[in-house]
Amino acid sequence: MTDAPMRPRLSDLERSELDTLIRQLGQPAFRAGQVWDWMAKKGVFAPREMTNLPAPLRDKLIELHPDPALQFEGDSEARDTTEKLLFRLADGRYVESVLIPAPKRTTVCLSSQVGCAVGCRFCASGIEGGQRNLTTGEIFEQFMAMSRRAEERGRRVSNIVVMGMGEPMFNFSHVMAALDRINSPEGPNLGARKITVSTVGIRGGVERFTALRKPYTLAFSLHAPNDELRRRIVPLASAMSVAEIREAALRHLKETGREVTFEYVLLRGVNDSPAEAREFRALMRGTQASVNLIPYNPVPGLPYERPDDRDVDRFVAILEDGRVKVSVRRRKGSDIDAACGQLALKRRAEER
Ligand code: SAH
Ligand code: SF4
Repeated sequence: MTDAPMRPRLSDLERSELDTLIRQLGQPAFRAGQVWDWMAKKGVFAPREMTNLPAPLRDKLIELHPDPALQFEGDSEARDTTEKLLFRLADGRYVESVLIPAPKRTTVCLSSQVGCAVGCRFCASGIEGGQRNLTTGEIFEQFMAMSRRAEERGRRVSNIVVMGMGEPMFNFSHVMAALDRINSPEGPNLGARKITVSTVGIRGGVERFTALRKPYTLAFSLHAPNDELRRRIVPLASAMSVAEIREAALRHLKETGREVTFEYVLLRGVNDSPAEAREFRALMRGTQASVNLIPYNPVPGLPYERPDDRDVDRFVAILEDGRVKVSVRRRKGSDIDAACGQLALKRRAEER
């Protein structure tokens, strides 16, 4: 998957690049700070709205970088207050983000790519394959748009999960640059511990992630306790094996002191039996990891189903019997297609 061949947007510039640009335009250094504040504090990315800039600078910026990276395209709200926003990108592709208010937190789910090359059998994002990496600006603008939506609801975003469309480890540098900007005191200043990056297990990316020693949380999408079953669900040949993922989780814990999360999508009759729960429990022993079980959100056209609550409860009980820390993500947003990638997919189908 390639990077965008498009002209960079203002939000794609790093702070040092903006400083250089402002200097080249013959403007005093503090103007760069003003432009940065519009973007990183107020979520305003169109220079024509940056009202405290002198007109000549504003005109020059409008000429160079007229438009934001994202155009708001539509949204849907679920009965449970989860909201999903769809954005149109400069090249006409779509990306989506989800706002998940809960009693004690407000979480934003960000996308890292358009489509996904991993092609997990149950996932809507994989259906059309990988299309392209999102730029730093596109990821950052998602966050700012979702923060604004949260504010309109009287809330403040407290957590981020990079669990929307795409495999973040395939777009490592842009994802990390965007998260660093979100985490920065010169921007939204969201605590690093409140940020989770979810991966299917891409060797080089996971190693780089651990080596950064940032207190971001690492989550592995495991979905199966052995390679034979996992390969059927996660067909990417270069994905890490179950044993490698377990080792990488232990290494991450040792080197960063941060506990890892394992995600496991429960697919009826595929990976939800007591035997699989026991095998999973054995795998978790000694890892200190917590497990997030996700009963499947059915995707139209795909042959997988959500297990009955009774089967979910049985799976939980077996894990808890081994003192594994388990949480279950119940139905959040399932009635608005909040499952990974579904809204953007539907929009593309409507356009055809
Ligand atoms: N590519 C990364 C991050 C995006 S997917 C990854 O796979 O980890 C984020 C999570 O959503 C993954 O755990 C994925 O398995 C899960 N997911 C995808 N489609 C789903 C669906 N239809 N129902 C429930 N969970 C789903
Ligand atoms: Fe890609 Fe994650 Fe979907 Fe798998 S679950 S296809 S890795 S987005």
